[in-house]
Amino acid sequence: MMFGSTGPAPSIGESALGLARAVLMHGPISRGDLGRRLGLSPASLTRLSKPFLDSGLFVEVSDSQTSGVGRPTKPLDVRLDGRRFVGVKLTGDGAFGVLTDLRVNELASAHRRLDGRDVAGVVRQLCSLVLELANGAPLAALGVTVGGQVIGSRVVARAPFLAWRDVDLASALEAGLGIPVLVENDVVGLAAAEQWFGAGRRTASFAVVTVGIGVGYGLVINDQVISTRDSGLGLGGHVPLDADGPLCGSGHRGCSDAMLTQGSIRAQVSASLGREAEYDEVLALAAAGVPAALSVLQASGRALGRLVALIANIAMIDTVVLSGEGIGLWTVVADQIVAAAHGDRDAEATPVRISVDDTGTSSWARGAAAVAIQRTLTRFTVAD
Ligand SMILES: [Zn+2]
Repeated sequence: MMFGSTGPAPSIGESALGLARAVLMHGPISRGDLGRRLGLSPASLTRLSKPFLDSGLFVEVSDSQTSGVGRPTKPLDVRLDGRRFVGVKLTGDGAFGVLTDLRVNELASAHRRLDGRDVAGVVRQLCSLVLELANGAPLAALGVTVGGQVIGSRVVARAPFLAWRDVDLASALEAGLGIPVLVENDVVGLAAAEQWFGAGRRTASFAVVTVGIGVGYGLVINDQVISTRDSGLGLGGHVPLDADGPLCGSGHRGCSDAMLTQGSIRAQVSASLGREAEYDEVLALAAAGVPAALSVLQASGRALGRLVALIANIAMIDTVVLSGEGIGLWTVVADQIVAAAHGDRDAEATPVRISVDDTGTSSWARGAAAVAIQRTLTRFTVAD
């Protein structure tokens, strides 16, 4: 089996790309379901499917549901071939990578602690990480996500945690690895992961809120992961949530950054205790009912619930996925989060469904792979 050109995507329309993505994410799927999902007539579906069937990307599978009356409907699926992808979540101090197949199943994982933040050094370490994961096998594409603003799936315009500005990360990695590289904001990548194989897979519209070093916010509307030029600016931070809260570094009282980041929570509890406390210890103290920790966490919980309600109200969605390395606070103050999320909604509004993804870095890295897979899916022709 060999894979065709990795050059620029052939010019196919948005409907064809949408069809390829839908079959990738939901296959095997009947033509009827596809038509309803994409708003396509049977004739359009047949026309748009043909090139993908001819190229080998799609296969028709036997329909076990066929009743024997009428002709078989032959649901469509992608051919799960030998293509391999790598997804990497890059942070200010490390890179976590996964090797996946076309359906973003994790086959291997590896981690690098960054030696420094200079671009050439980080690129070198990323290349080494990718080559270790590939283990000698060819890769179809690499996806890298980063906490920052990314332009055109290639250039990191602003990444505060790396102190980067206008870094053409995709070109540097492509030069080092010789494969297509897609770069994206990390919360956009996580939203793609939740949509495909996480808590968002059963709903067309949902939001993702992450708490950790910062507060992240991502949105999926009508099956589309929203990615704009401003997606990476951390617009989920600094939302006013508590008039009595502490100040953030920018001087806002009780903003989402001040109420929810691990650094702010640690600082508040450490000040009360009169000694430094790590985040995990803060959670343990709060769980044990130590007032200095519990009161801070409860205020954080109320603020997070309020943020969830605000997002649900403004975006008109009813499912919110919580994630991030600070989401351990859910285990301590879930009641406060849920109560505040419901309290700030109209009594007749659909109750907000809150899901927690505590799978850690794996979802972020698989999200990076998902971005690479979805955006290169139609570049390849498959031939035996
Ligand atoms: Zn602020």
